[in-house]
Amino acid sequence: MVILPQDYIEELQAIFGTDTAAYQDLMAQPPYKGLSVNRLKARPETLLAELPFATEKSPFYADGYYICGESDGVGRHPYHQAGAFYVQEPSATSAVTLLDIQPNDKVLDLCAAPGGKSAQIASCLCGTGLLWSNEVVRHRAQILLSNFERMGVREGVVSSCHPETLCEALGGFFDKVLVDAPCSGEGMFRKDPEAIGEWSREHVKACAERQFSILHSAAQAVKVGGTLVYSTCTFSHEENEGVIQAFLSAHPDFEAVDVHEPFGRPSGLACGVRITPMDGGEGHFAAKLRRMDGDADTSPSLFTLPSRPDKQRTEVLHALADILADVPQDRLYLSHDKAFFLPRYYPNVTGVGVVRAGVLAGEWKKNRLEPSHALFMATPPDVCRQVLRLSLTDSRVKDFLQGLEIDTDGSTPDGYTSVTVNGYSLGFGKTSHARLKNKYPKGLRRA
Ligand code: SAM
Repeated sequence: MVILPQDYIEELQAIFGTDTAAYQDLMAQPPYKGLSVNRLKARPETLLAELPFATEKSPFYADGYYICGESDGVGRHPYHQAGAFYVQEPSATSAVTLLDIQPNDKVLDLCAAPGGKSAQIASCLCGTGLLWSNEVVRHRAQILLSNFERMGVREGVVSSCHPETLCEALGGFFDKVLVDAPCSGEGMFRKDPEAIGEWSREHVKACAERQFSILHSAAQAVKVGGTLVYSTCTFSHEENEGVIQAFLSAHPDFEAVDVHEPFGRPSGLACGVRITPMDGGEGHFAAKLRRMDGDADTSPSLFTLPSRPDKQRTEVLHALADILADVPQDRLYLSHDKAFFLPRYYPNVTGVGVVRAGVLAGEWKKNRLEPSHALFMATPPDVCRQVLRLSLTDSRVKDFLQGLEIDTDGSTPDGYTSVTVNGYSLGFGKTSHARLKNKYPKGLRRA
């Protein structure tokens, strides 16, 4: 049985009223589990029919689903490794619904690791616009990058920067900004009962102060007319309505936008929605604001690639043309022997802790190009010159994910070869004499 601190129950009574008892009862039930489909790689109707567990549509996001029943091993499923879906608590998807992503939007996800909401945003953008995902904690930014690569994000940037520095450098650049703020995590208590021990009124207050400060920084990155969504996975008034009210008082250039979503329950503000376990999710709050006014455009211009051809660039392009049927030459950028395909809308900024811009295509080593795992994860198989197409029941899928060399049955000539499972890219290897030398990254290999 889960024991909740008395102080916390008192706070809840002010928020849930007569539903407090229902919430306490629900604490004894297992948490909701869910996934969101990655449209960069998959179509929901095809993917869901192929998964070995039942799913049910969630009300919180167009491509969000509950995982029904036993969900052990979902994260080890080959389609997960292929980035066809992201495992995500169902109500956590609601903030991106409020963002209302449109094709070609430039979007900043300011507190982005591990990357669930970024995965949704990338899926909604579907290869258009730009997703800039930032995570201030450096080692968490690496996890974010790994999820970017798995999901096959091409038009994206991962950075690790303090929100104030980043948003100042990117002032007025974004159509949409998401602040999914660190919080006291009351909506995680069922999933992670140990987190209950960290709850205190002082902790809630400290979280609210930090949240205000992050939101205050985020404001400058929003272009005039653009949208700012604030979200947390906590129920607290102080961290939710309180932070929004304080922000609106300090920022007359922003207005609250009424939300009318078909999920959750009204919050204390018309611009916000609260989701509780009684509403089909573990717990989330999201609020929507719009920037009405601001300085004349101070946003940075776009980065222009050096146009002067050089020998190394020509050689890299030749090597890439052996691997891909279509090389986006105009986006190729070489830096310290690494080759990247930069995003279309990459802003010209420095000093903001960029960990990755676009896709790492490969590394130039000993006069040849060693392609990267990320390149194959972000390239549709039909653009790759060589593909080893495996079915889900083929034992070579497991062998490949374990890092073993596999047979190609002579189906592909020698050279770099994309490996797919039912059409979803898993990575690549190098074919030689009907054997595929495994290039699946060591850190991702299964035991
Ligand atoms: N949006 C993420 C997702 O969907 O996967 C979850 C983000 S989590 C709720 C909040 C993130 O904010 C954490 O990764 C945490 O490291 C980061 N964070 C912590 N302190 C911060 C600060 N002062 N400014 C910005 N981000 C911070």
